[in-house]
Amino acid sequence: MQVAAAGVRAAGQRLGLVPTMGALHEGHLSLVRRARQECDVTVVSIFVNPTQFGPGEDYRNYPRDFEHDKHLLENEGVDLLFAPTTEEMYPDGFQTTISIGQATTPLEGKFRPGHFDGVATVVAKLFNVVLPDKAYFGRKDAQQCVVIQRMVRDLNFPVAIIVRPTVREPDGLAMSSRNAYLNAEERKAALTLYRALRRAKELLEQGERCAATLEGEMRALLEAEPLAKIDYAAVVDAETLQPLATVERDTLVALAVRIGRTRLIDNLQVGTEGGRLTIQL
Ligand code: AMP
Repeated sequence: MQVAAAGVRAAGQRLGLVPTMGALHEGHLSLVRRARQECDVTVVSIFVNPTQFGPGEDYRNYPRDFEHDKHLLENEGVDLLFAPTTEEMYPDGFQTTISIGQATTPLEGKFRPGHFDGVATVVAKLFNVVLPDKAYFGRKDAQQCVVIQRMVRDLNFPVAIIVRPTVREPDGLAMSSRNAYLNAEERKAALTLYRALRRAKELLEQGERCAATLEGEMRALLEAEPLAKIDYAAVVDAETLQPLATVERDTLVALAVRIGRTRLIDNLQVGTEGGRLTIQL
């Protein structure tokens, strides 16, 4: 992969990378399409990275359908599919971890200790192997985007991080490979995340700026759904991810909710540029 990538770059072509764990859906494909528009050569990686799953998480059951993924990527005109084995990524003797500071401790960090060490380490490896000019990530994993951007700045990776909007099902549920775990009843209940974020959006549009009020309204909606158990419903600074009292600068409204045994995340982002609020859901 690295030799192929070096050849692409030596030929003066721009290389785009879309890192994924497979079980591809329209969210992944939206990143692929963007990469194809902006780059000469698009590489998609598929690797279910064991080091970003905690004990008791779904590493073993994570949906895998390599042939279907390959077919989807061929249809999209992807140039290279990089699908290493676990042994290739973590050969015997592997012992290096990238650990990022404050950005990894709140939100997901509280519920998935070690998760972002796994993410940062594998993404750093992918950057060094695929040598991309641009790498594409989905805003659905908002904290992951913050963490990767921090790593790229701190460690001077020569790659531009492109963050793209969340792709949703027609009813609003954020697309996720993990949605495949939901049974029919849970699938209905899962919509409560979107409803809670819609409520927050509505309140923000009406001028509400108090974080506690926004959180309280979201919690009330989520708690009304018997199948939903809240991990967090938080209003935080979009860059530092620290809690905010009022929404007056770029803000992330983030949810993690368990529906049965399936853990789902979603968010909306508030921009404050030019004094006007912009809300991306
Ligand atoms: P994953 O395969 O879950 O590791 O995701 C690979 C990439 O796709 C990550 O950058 C995700 O943020 C992104 N992604 C996942 N779901 C969506 C979605 N619904 N919309 C846009 N991007 C997404």
